[in-house]
Amino acid sequence: MTSQHQSIATRLIHAGGTTDPVTGSVNLPIYQTSTFRQHGVGGSPEWEYSRTGNPTRAALERLIAELEGGTSGFAFASGMAAITAVLSLFSAGDEIVLSRNVYGGTYRVLDQVFSNFGITYRVVEGERPHDFEAAVTERTKAFLLESPANPLLEVTDLVAATAVAHEHGAIAIVDNTFMTPYLQRPLELGADVVVHSATKYLGGHSDLVAGLVVVRDDELARRIAFIQNSTGGVLGPFDSFLLVRGIKTLGVRMDRHVANAQRIAEALARSPEVASIHFPGLPTDAGYEINRRQAAGPGAMISFELAEGHDVRCFFSSLELVAFAESLGGVESLACHPATMTHAAIPREVRERIGITDGLIRLSVGIEDADDILADVEQAIRASRF
Ligand code: PLP
Repeated sequence: MTSQHQSIATRLIHAGGTTDPVTGSVNLPIYQTSTFRQHGVGGSPEWEYSRTGNPTRAALERLIAELEGGTSGFAFASGMAAITAVLSLFSAGDEIVLSRNVYGGTYRVLDQVFSNFGITYRVVEGERPHDFEAAVTERTKAFLLESPANPLLEVTDLVAATAVAHEHGAIAIVDNTFMTPYLQRPLELGADVVVHSATKYLGGHSDLVAGLVVVRDDELARRIAFIQNSTGGVLGPFDSFLLVRGIKTLGVRMDRHVANAQRIAEALARSPEVASIHFPGLPTDAGYEINRRQAAGPGAMISFELAEGHDVRCFFSSLELVAFAESLGGVESLACHPATMTHAAIPREVRERIGITDGLIRLSVGIEDADDILADVEQAIRASRF
C-alpha cells in the first residue's frame, strides 16, 4: 500500500494494493469469474457475484479512490454508465445545473433519457461563479462540471463553483476526464463526486471503454454502490486489469502529452492561418490563471479554427499521421470535428451560441514526437487552403 505522502507518480504504480497477496505476482490477477463458491447458508462472504463485486475490479476501484483522494471508487462499463449511475441519485422534480460545454453524451442523457423520469437540467451561460449562481433554482440538487470543458477548453474555477453548489444545498459532480488525477484532483477543490471516462487518458491506449466514479462521503458511497449493483453497468475483470495497467504509466504519458500540446498550441497560436485557439496552457487563454491555480498542467486537448480561405473538411481529409476519429487521450494523436461528432447531440442553435462552430477542430495531442505531429497538422492546414 502507498501513503498519501508519496508523490502521485509513485501512487499511480503502487496504490490500491494491486500486487497479489497469495502468490506475490506483481501484476493484478484477472479473476475472470461470474460467481464465487460459498461455505454455507447465511454466511456473509466477501465475494458472492461479480456484478456486486469482483477482486480485479475492486483493486481498480481502490486505486482510483486513492488517486483522487476519495474514500470509495466504482468502475463501470463506460464513462456514460458512470455518469448514468451518478445521475440515478436524483428523483423526479430535481434539477441539475450543467457547465455549458459538457460532453455531448452527458447533455444527451439528461435531455433525452433522464427527462423521461422528470429530472431536468439547466445549462450555465458562462463559467464564472455568478453564472452558476444565476442558474440555481429551488429545485437544483447538483452541479455537473467539466474543467477544462469539452471542446472549447473553458476553465471553471472549481473552488468557487463547488462553493456555490454547497451554499444552495446541492452536490458538486466534476467530470475529470480531460485532466486525470495526475493533473487535477477535484475532491481537494470542493467536489463531492468525480466521474471519468477512463476510456481516455486513464486507459491511455484506445483499447478499452470504461468509466469511474469516486466519492469521499460514506452515505454517497453506499448509495452509488447500491445503484451500481442494482443497475449493473459494471466493468468486467479483463478491462479492469487493462485499466490498472494503463494507469501505471499515466504520469510519464501525461508529462509527454502536456509538453507536446504546449509546443503545438504555441506554434498554432503564432500561425496566421489559425483564426482562434483554445488551450489553457497559453498565457493569453482566458482560463490560464485559474487553471494554473487548480491544476498541475493544462492537459493536452487543443481546439482551434482555421482562418478564412481554408476548408475544414479538406483539413481533416489531408491528415496523415493524426487520425480523424472520435475519442481522445490515447497515445496516438487524434483530430475530431465536434459539430458533427462529439457534440452532434447538441442542437445547432445551442452549439453555435456556446461557440462550437462548424469550423472548430479538436486535437487530442498524443505522445508521438512533437515535430512529427506538428508537421502533419501544418501540412493539412496548407492543403486545406482554397
Ligand atoms: N466525459 C467526457 C469528458 C468525455 O469526453 C466522454 C467521451 O468522450 C464521456 C464522458 C463519456 O465516456 P465514454 O465514451 O467512456 O462512455
